[in-house]
Amino acid sequence: MLDARLGALRGTAPPIPHNARTLAALTANPSCDRRSLLDAAGIDKDALAAHLDLPRPLRKSQLALDYGIAFERKVTAQAGAPLVPLLRKALGLTLPEVSYEDVNSVGSDDDKSSPQLRHARTRSLILSAAHRRSDPRTLLDHPVLRLTVAGHQVYLEPDVIAFQLDGVFHVVEIKSFPVIHGQPDPVKATAALTQAAAYVLALRELLAGDGLPPDRVSDTVILVNPRNFTRHPTATPFSAHKQIKNLSRHLGRLRRLPGLLDNLPPGTTFDLAPGPDQRPTRPRGELVAALVTVRPHYTPGCRHHCDLSFHCRTEALNQGRTAALGTSVRDDLAGIDTIAKALDLADGRMHPSRDQQDITQALRHAQRIHADLHTDTA
Ligand code: SF4
Repeated sequence: MLDARLGALRGTAPPIPHNARTLAALTANPSCDRRSLLDAAGIDKDALAAHLDLPRPLRKSQLALDYGIAFERKVTAQAGAPLVPLLRKALGLTLPEVSYEDVNSVGSDDDKSSPQLRHARTRSLILSAAHRRSDPRTLLDHPVLRLTVAGHQVYLEPDVIAFQLDGVFHVVEIKSFPVIHGQPDPVKATAALTQAAAYVLALRELLAGDGLPPDRVSDTVILVNPRNFTRHPTATPFSAHKQIKNLSRHLGRLRRLPGLLDNLPPGTTFDLAPGPDQRPTRPRGELVAALVTVRPHYTPGCRHHCDLSFHCRTEALNQGRTAALGTSVRDDLAGIDTIAKALDLADGRMHPSRDQQDITQALRHAQRIHADLHTDTA
């Protein structure tokens, strides 16, 4: 039933599955109903942005994509040979030999197998290692995990899972942004840890299905990045405890989907109605009207993680939303959602309610300072 309702929102397009990146984006703006609903329905937000003729800042250049792929191949080449010494150091692995299994293709050398097959293989290898029914598979390259998101099973693909002999699994993420003198870019590192948090939760879900406790998966995630300005990899352990807690909490909130669907006007759809040449034929005005039916929660940070950021920013500015002025302004003016209302309170054109009295005083104080400064410089 829920699937059919979400399918009607998506229309004729195939669903875009959730991935660690989309799950990570949820933690960046968990209050946005628009994003929650579009992601749950598997709607291609980049295709919506393209049809609305919006800038698409999240699209990576082909050069950056190629560099990322080349770096990952370098790290996992020759059965993970370059990775093993890095992980030995980072995780304190003492094994002289480290076994390695590539789960990219199951039963075929060339093509990637289906996620279902790869997940079945991953599950069997992980449970064998966890119960020590076989030699521990110390490194699993491109395993496929499954996580329940809003009642749906989502397939996720970490880069590597490392298994330690003392019975703890670690998620390893290979990223192409550099670590310079031991320090990665903090914004990129936090985003990478939030993605890794999705894998940690999925791995815990797999183990829990076999009665194994969550502490069999470490909160410590290993990021493998280029060192300084070279292409040589370096592995750094980071605690993802905070990100795991946040993501787990936000995933719990996604169960509101039926409520969000109930609030939509009948017949709402984000279908782009592709024509015979696959170009969208949906009038743009109709698509914009459909977006208006789901409440956004725009913050300037949206531009880092959502394809619709330019649309929602324009909408927030047109509506005079305080959020368009930045997160700190929005938070400082909590409860006052439009710039017009803030000005009316400051100028005395609007009488503050009891819970607006403090902020009204602060606004009037700021206005007096502004007026004094203006007088001094006149
Ligand atoms: S850009 Fe729009 S849809 Fe995306 S998270 Fe922000 S408010 Fe929500």
